[in-house]
Amino acid sequence: MKTEEENEMASGSDVVFSPPLYIQRYQLVFDVLTQKCQNIHKIADFGCAEGKLFRRLKRMTNVEEIALIDCDDYSLEMCVHESRPLPYDFLFAERDVPLKVNVYKGSVAQNDSRLENFDAITCIELIEHLTADVLQAFPDNIFGYIRPKVVIITTPNIEYNVLFPQLKNTSQLRHYDHKFEWTRHEFDNWCQSIVKNYPEYSYEKTGVGEPPEQYSDVGFCTQIAIFRRHSDTDSTDDITDKCLNYKIVDTFDYPKNTRIHKEMEFVDWPSVPILHIHRGRFGDKTESFGVKWINGELSTLDGLNGVPLSEVLLDVMLRLGEATQNEVNERGVPEVYIDLL
Ligand code: SAH
Repeated sequence: MKTEEENEMASGSDVVFSPPLYIQRYQLVFDVLTQKCQNIHKIADFGCAEGKLFRRLKRMTNVEEIALIDCDDYSLEMCVHESRPLPYDFLFAERDVPLKVNVYKGSVAQNDSRLENFDAITCIELIEHLTADVLQAFPDNIFGYIRPKVVIITTPNIEYNVLFPQLKNTSQLRHYDHKFEWTRHEFDNWCQSIVKNYPEYSYEKTGVGEPPEQYSDVGFCTQIAIFRRHSDTDSTDDITDKCLNYKIVDTFDYPKNTRIHKEMEFVDWPSVPILHIHRGRFGDKTESFGVKWINGELSTLDGLNGVPLSEVLLDVMLRLGEATQNEVNERGVPEVYIDLL
């Protein structure tokens, strides 16, 4: 639902978000979960939309379950596409543990006992889309029922809107579906009401999208609250009732480390002009194939600039369908030659 609209709104002004603000939000979430939290094994992303945050979350190699939840069918359809494992995930998996992904249709206002023992909840640009009744029910589900160790909530800071030429001097909000946008003070009041009602939590505020120096008093473009449960103990009041309010849309299993990855550790990638990759057994099929990279240097591939090598290799795999030549070697293993040039 949301892409690079902040940069679009800023066109004609001096404000440029680079990387785009939505990427900065996801990166902050990733950094908090990986560097400022411990023992995060289960994460639920409410208002996941097309599942873009998932691309980052799946890089957390010790996370065992991710729930992606939204109430919009069209977004969920794209989310299923986004969260489905790729050949890359089977071939080059670097996971310490297997990952289960559940995509659910549901509302953040509804309880569901399948989120019991979830450690982290993310709500990225969600609350401003909620109607008053849903917003009111939200804290009870997140802080009263699920009781995770950490909750990350992001929302627009309306004070920043003066820097968007398209919104300046209008009462327009950043997105047609926003029910409100809050000042820093309003967001703070809401956060305070949460910790008052759920005193085992405290919060800190941060943000992404710094204003230009001469507007420093407007604050970050996106305001962010990070709530933490202080009791170190795991939730003692286990959820005993089984309530299954969410509808499962799809479920995926990502494998942990695959054999191929271990073989690849011995290859000095950038100095190897020809890659030969064997894929081991997975799923219910035994398949092997080789990829020879003819005339290839890694730098000749599309988009290598700044793109992790692993993603370039994914590109190689996706091009298997364009193979120019196939043969079977002495062990009966098909070898696929791809000329990428
Ligand atoms: N988190 C995403 C999308 C934000 S847009 C991102 O950062 O890009 C807000 C999303 O919340 C939409 O996909 C919308 O369908 C979803 N949403 C709205 N009301 C909801 C509710 N009650 N429960 C769960 N999701 C909801």
